[in-house]
Amino acid sequence: MMLNNELSAIEDAIRDCQRCELHETVTNKVIRKGSDDPKVLFIGEAPGKNEDETGVPFCGRAGTILDEIIGYMDLPDEDWAVVNTVKCRPPKNRNPHKMELQSCKPFLIKQIELLDPDLIILLGNTAQKAFCPDHPLEWGATEMIEDRCILKIYHPAALIYTRSRRVDQYRFLDEQRHLWQ
Ligand code: SF4
Repeated sequence: MMLNNELSAIEDAIRDCQRCELHETVTNKVIRKGSDDPKVLFIGEAPGKNEDETGVPFCGRAGTILDEIIGYMDLPDEDWAVVNTVKCRPPKNRNPHKMELQSCKPFLIKQIELLDPDLIILLGNTAQKAFCPDHPLEWGATEMIEDRCILKIYHPAALIYTRSRRVDQYRFLDEQRHLWQ
């Protein structure tokens, strides 16, 4: 109950936040999807058009691919959650600026602390720049950073048109199954 209260408090603070310019054009803050007690936490990039309209992370085409990845990993609903680096959509789907990532990072860190996953999966470069800006990671990296087990894989949107990346990604996930099973 205490954890849920703390999650609710941080999510209320996100809804009220005006810490960077992105709040000026946002329709809905995009906060989290999935379990309150996940084994695996995915960190995406920034909300896009569908997410801004609904307030739900990964609800568009990339979300369908993330669902496929979660299914491939055999993760039941209680074992995963997904958050983004920034909670407001950047105009025209541009990448978040460094200052915006920094402004929103305290929320990301608090979400990680409260959700306390066994494994964090960074979905692409923006997630890595937000989580560990001084620690560049290649695709397929597996490291301990700040006492957290981290994997970096392709963002689902990067798999939409590139079949070879999907094959590589699923092969890599097969090799790492011991980390969440
Ligand atoms: S992106 Fe994050 S820091 Fe910027 S206004 Fe939205 S919630 Fe606040």
